Amino acid sequence: MAEWDVVVVGAGNAALCAALAARESGASVLVLERAPEDEGGGNTRFTAGAIRTVYNGVDDLRALMPDLTDEEVSITDFGTYTSDQFFDDMFRVTQFRTNPDMAEALVTRSYDTLMWMRGKGIRFQPIWGRQAFKVDGRFKFWGGLTVESWGGGPGLVEGLWTAARREGIEVRFSARVLELIYDDVAVTGVRVKTPTGVETVRAKAVVLAAGGFQANPEWRTRYLGAGWELAKVRGSRFNTGDGIRMALAIGAAPYGNWSGCHAVGWDYNAPEFGDLTVGDNFQKHSYPFGIMINADGRRFVDEGADFRNYTYAKYGRVILNQPNQFAWQVFDQKVTHLLRDEYRIRRVTKVTADTLEDLVTKLEGVNPQAALAELKAWNGAVMADVPFNPNVKDGRGTRGLGVPKSNWANTLDTPPYEAYQVTCGVTFTFGGLRIDGSGQVLDVDLAPIPGLYAAGELVGGLFYFNYPGGTGLCAGAVFGKIAGTGAGEAATGRAAQAAR
Ligand SMILES: Cc1cc2nc3c(=O)[nH]c(=O)nc-3n(C[C@H](O)[C@H](O)[C@H](O)COP(=O)(O)OP(=O)(O)OC[C@H]3O[C@@H](n4cnc5c(N)ncnc54)[C@H](O)[C@@H]3O)c2cc1C
Repeated sequence: MAEWDVVVVGAGNAALCAALAARESGASVLVLERAPEDEGGGNTRFTAGAIRTVYNGVDDLRALMPDLTDEEVSITDFGTYTSDQFFDDMFRVTQFRTNPDMAEALVTRSYDTLMWMRGKGIRFQPIWGRQAFKVDGRFKFWGGLTVESWGGGPGLVEGLWTAARREGIEVRFSARVLELIYDDVAVTGVRVKTPTGVETVRAKAVVLAAGGFQANPEWRTRYLGAGWELAKVRGSRFNTGDGIRMALAIGAAPYGNWSGCHAVGWDYNAPEFGDLTVGDNFQKHSYPFGIMINADGRRFVDEGADFRNYTYAKYGRVILNQPNQFAWQVFDQKVTHLLRDEYRIRRVTKVTADTLEDLVTKLEGVNPQAALAELKAWNGAVMADVPFNPNVKDGRGTRGLGVPKSNWANTLDTPPYEAYQVTCGVTFTFGGLRIDGSGQVLDVDLAPIPGLYAAGELVGGLFYFNYPGGTGLCAGAVFGKIAGTGAGEAATGRAAQAAR
């Protein structure tokens, strides 16, 4: 029977940051990943690698991304994203529900953790394409999201796996952890199913980083509510709540927003689970520059309430709640040059038309007369006297509509018109386990469970109702490093004690 200091369950961002941190404590580390290698890396691999971090100016960014050239710096307004800004965002979007201790760890350790990852060989770059528009020859970053990993999610996963192997961490694929070994006092290992059978792996500490339960339709319906079985899964099909289930089974405390999740507008004809050849490109995130209408031909949400970073993660739920769970996003040629790359992929549900009358007949599933009336009412309500500027909340809204739009309102009068059909794509669930400041899992009496740590999507308490874009990877890295350090130190400390 094998014996390790630390076993990490999962091989995404949180897991690998935990593994690398545990290794730094001198622990022997085994990573067990349920997926085969070509599908491994969880949701992390599906991302574009956008990662939110505090920075107090361009010097911080240059330290993190030394490849930045003087010329790039000269044509870009990076602004700042201070701790105060990050705190404000976390508290505002979660309606002040976020656990303040966790939020503090996330915010105050974000930059140092990214620098630590850089030291492990992970490279970062600015997100020119998605988070800054060029206005009068200069880029301006908005929405607190400025950094992405080199090579996106696949690059991040590859970098983390390479670092793990270099540092002597063993990563086993097609290894599904089934349960924790627990003697009513401490966790002492796991039971794992591999293609050759089920085996016991002994460990002094276990870190759970096996993702949320979004790929489990039964749990989605049970916890998120009726209708959630109808959502599409944006990422990994392997995140079915295993880590949460096995911890609850030994008495761990459930925590956080169990009926909440991150969910976005996602191509209506996207497959049931994510497709790594498409990555995150089934998403359709440029709705702030257009309008969305439902099957009744009606608008139903303020598409320009805020920068998309602060609305996209909650609008998937709003779309799921529309009749037949879909919406059409409509744009005209005044704004199509602003549409993100994901609108130009081959697998996209799109129609075009030269007149609004023709357009409404092409919007499958929509009441055409009602839609036409809505589009005409829309055109009469836009505050055309306020200048349009995609880099700031421009206040160009609407007057007199039942569902107002607050920013970036534009008339629909420049054909050809383009419309894109979206449904709800669920990203990850917000409810999960409860941890203390060292990443140790708490039991239902709120006492730490010896030998059990957790990080990433399966930890509850950070996100409620909504989420600031790019925080999932940041949280995975920060809490992964904390949990790995906690587990590594506990394991090696205990190992030293036993040897005495
Ligand atoms: C399409 C898409 C785009 C996204 N874009 C971004 C973005 O740009 N920026 C951002 O911050 N966030 C983004 N996110 C969210 C982000 O992916 C997650 O917040 C983050 O990657 C979660 O990391 P994790 O390590 O907790 O989970 P994961 O990366 O999902 O890793 C969990 C791992 O656990 C494994 N596992 C599950 N069960 C078991 C078991 N029983 N035994 C062993 N292993 C198991 C899984 O196979 C998986 O590899 C995006 C998500 C998706 C789906």
